[in-house]
Amino acid sequence: MGLDVNTLFLVTVYVEAMLGLLLLFTWVQNSSILAVAWWGSAHILRAGSVMLFGMYGSVSDAISIDLANAVLFTAFAATWTGARVFDGRPVQPALLLGGGVFWVLVSRTPWVAGSMDVKVLLSSGIITAYTWAAAYEFWQGRSEPLVSRWPAIFMLFAHGALFLLRTPLSQVLPWTPGNMVFESVWLTVLSFEALLFTIAIAFILLAMAKERAELRHKTAALIDPLTGIANRRAFLDGVHAISRRQGAEARPVAMLVADLDHFKSINDKHGHAVGDSALRMFADVAGAKLGPCDLVGRLGGEEFAILLHDTGREKALATGERIRLAFEHAAAMVDGRPVRGTVSIGMVTAEAGLFDAPALLVRADEALYCAKERGRNRVEIAQPQLASERPRELRARPRAAAQGAA
Ligand code: GH3
Ligand code: MG
Ligand code: MG
Repeated sequence: MGLDVNTLFLVTVYVEAMLGLLLLFTWVQNSSILAVAWWGSAHILRAGSVMLFGMYGSVSDAISIDLANAVLFTAFAATWTGARVFDGRPVQPALLLGGGVFWVLVSRTPWVAGSMDVKVLLSSGIITAYTWAAAYEFWQGRSEPLVSRWPAIFMLFAHGALFLLRTPLSQVLPWTPGNMVFESVWLTVLSFEALLFTIAIAFILLAMAKERAELRHKTAALIDPLTGIANRRAFLDGVHAISRRQGAEARPVAMLVADLDHFKSINDKHGHAVGDSALRMFADVAGAKLGPCDLVGRLGGEEFAILLHDTGREKALATGERIRLAFEHAAAMVDGRPVRGTVSIGMVTAEAGLFDAPALLVRADEALYCAKERGRNRVEIAQPQLASERPRELRARPRAAAQGAA
């Protein structure tokens, strides 16, 4: 192995420090993701520890080995803490400093100080524990759809495994020509791997933070903050996506438009906060009655739209009626107040291959108008779309196109 360990150490110090500063700089630019500051500090700490290791021979072992190791463990602990903070878990100060403090306390005891193997095994064990703990933290948060989470888990797991296996592997592959620590080929291999790991993990963690920020922006642009369901834009995007897929496998669909009844007077009588709760309640009630391929969105105010996938007239009417009844039942009391909220629903179905989203919305809206006119708290369905009708004609009035069916 022709790699010079001293050169590797020097390069590692520079790279660790540079990546640490890069992460800290990124955090200063966007301080909303605090984990990035922890990860930046971890790199700076690792740079410090490698610098201390590099002083081996010119300073006492207490500094170049014991202190260096303690700083190294704290660096890995900071990466782990960053992973906890990233997924909203609290910092654990005792465990953050535990590895380094434990090392300082036991490394001078005779049974550790007297055996290089025990020392290596102990230090490897601490590093593995922290890196696997960090991988586990990321694994726990896997429900958040971040692609870069997976390479982070893999890198941390592999790095920990290599550290844990180095003692048994060095027995199987005794690459150490002498007892001098700097002559160990294993040290060269590990130093080289540590350098590659540090570069890779810094970029993966940065990618995770960036992906999280983008996901938040995207979510904010598509999710209605009050109810947590799709906003108008996201609903229409979803409808268009289904409409495109319809080309391949045509199925009937039903479009429902729901509007809460006398909502203005609910607000006036019980307050805006109760009104908000009623809106959230409708979103929950409607969502609970839908299948995995159906869509629900808040079009605005107290108006919602629902697209039922693969649904003909009878099934659509039954679903609309179930939603109406469930809301009437749930909204009898809202936040402990006798609100007696109800909803009117207009709907239209389209046979397979006749999916024109804007036209369906207009016709469902016309049916809703009928439901309001006929006394509210009811479901009305418009005439089904005919194959001979063109979308432009469908948008034309009169509202009489809707017929009673509740
Ligand atoms: P109708 O039965 O004919 O639908 O009567 P309505 O009172 O429900 O309809 P109208 O359009 O007159 O009133 C809608 C009200 O919805 C007015 C507005 O203040 C209220 N609103 C719109 N968005 C929100 C919201 O986010 N929260 C609350 N609490 N109220 C909202
Ligand atoms: Mg209303
Ligand atoms: Mg309205």
